[in-house]
Amino acid sequence: MNIVLLGPPGCGKGTQAKRLQDRFGMTQLSTGEMLRAEVASESPLGAQVKAIIEGGSLVPDEIIVGLIAKRVAETGSSDGCILDGFPRTVPQAEALDEILTVSGMRVDKVIEFGVDDSAMVKRITGRYSCDSCGAGYHDEFQKPVAEGVCDNCGGESFSRRADDNEDVVRARLVEYHQQTAPITGYYADKGVLVTIDGMAKIDEVTKRLESLVG
Ligand code: AMP
Repeated sequence: MNIVLLGPPGCGKGTQAKRLQDRFGMTQLSTGEMLRAEVASESPLGAQVKAIIEGGSLVPDEIIVGLIAKRVAETGSSDGCILDGFPRTVPQAEALDEILTVSGMRVDKVIEFGVDDSAMVKRITGRYSCDSCGAGYHDEFQKPVAEGVCDNCGGESFSRRADDNEDVVRARLVEYHQQTAPITGYYADKGVLVTIDGMAKIDEVTKRLESLVG
C-alpha cells in the first residue's frame, strides 16, 4: 500500500511516518530529509536548494519529482511507501501518479492531518534532534529523561533545523495553504482522501493511522 501523509509543517507527519515504517515495514520517503541530506553533503543539488529551504519556500517541482522518481524506483513495490512531505503541489501529485503507474502502483490512501496553525508554530520552534541517531525532542512536550542526554543512544549533541525558527515557520505555513492545501481536492476527486484529527495525542494519532493502514 502506498500512502501520502498530508498536513502543514509540524503536524506530525514525520513522527508518524517513522512509526508506520517500524510497524508495517513500509518505506518512509521524506523529501525534506532527502533535501537536508543533500545540503549536509554539500552536493551541487544541496547548494542549489539550501537558501530556498532556509527561506521557507518550496523547491521547484522538477527537482523534487526527479528525486522521488529515483527513490520510488530504488524502493520497488514490495511493502509500499509512506510519502511524507511529497506531493506539495498539484503538479507534483500528477507526477506521482505517473511515476507509480509505470511500476503498476498507485496512491492507495491520502491521510490529511487536521491541525490548528497557531499550535504548529509552538510545536516547530521547540523541536530539536539528536545528532547521532536523529531521535526527536521538544523543549516543552518531549524532553529527554536526563537533561542533555539522548534517551535512545546516549548522545549529548543536539541540533535544530535551520528552517525551524518562527519567521520561516510562518512562511512555510503560507506556502502550505497556497500551494499544498489544493491537493486535497485532487485526491478527494479520486476518492482516496481521509482526514484525521492531528491535534489528538501522538499515540492516539498512531492508533488511528494503524487502523487505516493495517
Ligand atoms: P519538510 O521537512 O517536509 O518540512 O521540508 C523542509 C523543506 O524542504 C520545505 O520547507 C521545502 O523548502 C523543501 N521541500 C520538502 N519537500 C518538498 C516538496 N515536496 N516540494 C517542494 N519543496 C519541498
